[in-house]
Amino acid sequence: MERLDPSTIAVTAGRGSGAAGTPVNVPIELSSTYHAGGPVIYGRDSNPQWVAFESAVGALEGGDAVSFASGMAAIAAVASLVPAKGVVVAPEVAYKGSRNLFADLASVGRIELRLVDITDTSAVLAACDGASMLWAESPTNPMLGLADLAALEGAASLVAVDNTFATPLLQQPLSLGADIVVHSASKLLSGHTDVVLGVAVARTAELAARIKAHRTLHGAIPGPMETYLALRGLRTLPVRLERSSSTAAELVARLRADSRVEDVRYPGYGQMVAVIVRGGADAADAVCERLRLAVHATSLGGVETLIERRGRYAGEEATPPGLLRVSVGLEHVEDLWADLDQALASG
Ligand code: PLP
Repeated sequence: MERLDPSTIAVTAGRGSGAAGTPVNVPIELSSTYHAGGPVIYGRDSNPQWVAFESAVGALEGGDAVSFASGMAAIAAVASLVPAKGVVVAPEVAYKGSRNLFADLASVGRIELRLVDITDTSAVLAACDGASMLWAESPTNPMLGLADLAALEGAASLVAVDNTFATPLLQQPLSLGADIVVHSASKLLSGHTDVVLGVAVARTAELAARIKAHRTLHGAIPGPMETYLALRGLRTLPVRLERSSSTAAELVARLRADSRVEDVRYPGYGQMVAVIVRGGADAADAVCERLRLAVHATSLGGVETLIERRGRYAGEEATPPGLLRVSVGLEHVEDLWADLDQALASG
């Protein structure tokens, strides 16, 4: 069969054998050990639920997927591929967890870290001279900056991309030349704010085997229940994303025309929006407190709209203080607009 549309892959990949009488969904298998003599030995090595989730994400990204206990666990496994004292080039403004992880590794001399503006392609390429790994994120969290992934192909021995915001439906970094893709599956892939999970997808089986070996040795394995929920959520990612993206685009148009808002950052696709409120941190905090429908909480990519002021965290000094990160959910656009309007109005 010709390559299926991603929306079809999301529904069909990661199923069982299809044999008569077998379940249509891979059942959750809760067992820490297995009768000796078979292909699976122990629950830290493999689980049918991981395999189902991994085959679906792998099919969407175009590589071999390995699931982890969290997005950070996946990122740590990818970081472990850097040789001792190897150079890592990473964005200075991006998800603070990965930046902190690389800074931590640099502080103990495990790697050498070069921070760059990931949206400045020539600066990134210059910094990559002799680099073992380029760590990219696009769109970036929370500034929604874009890296030119195609131009960064081969820039370092390994090019890894955090594709959490775009999802494989909007961007497939492996097809643009990346070696590894990482997701916080806690976000859009699972989509219901009920799971913490991660996944790394490698271009080659050899790289995937190294990442998997790290998982087995370090033990940051996903739970069978979490991978079940994530795969269940992944089935509806195409329709969720379609709906939330069109709502986001409409909200962006209204917010850009609104004098209470200083700036709106939106890459032109997806459901993540950064709204810089006039009046700085206090005004943005007040907006969060007045929300009635959208939820004031961290995280993103769920069915409900989540809003938070990123600058409230230490380490987010490069983020404008009045920036609200908005993860647009599935509520009706007019209800969301009414909520934002009343929350901004009293400011
Ligand atoms: N990457 C991005 C872009 C994120 O936003 C996050 C979490 O917010 C992570 C990675 C880390 O994922 P997790 O929270 O699943 O460990």
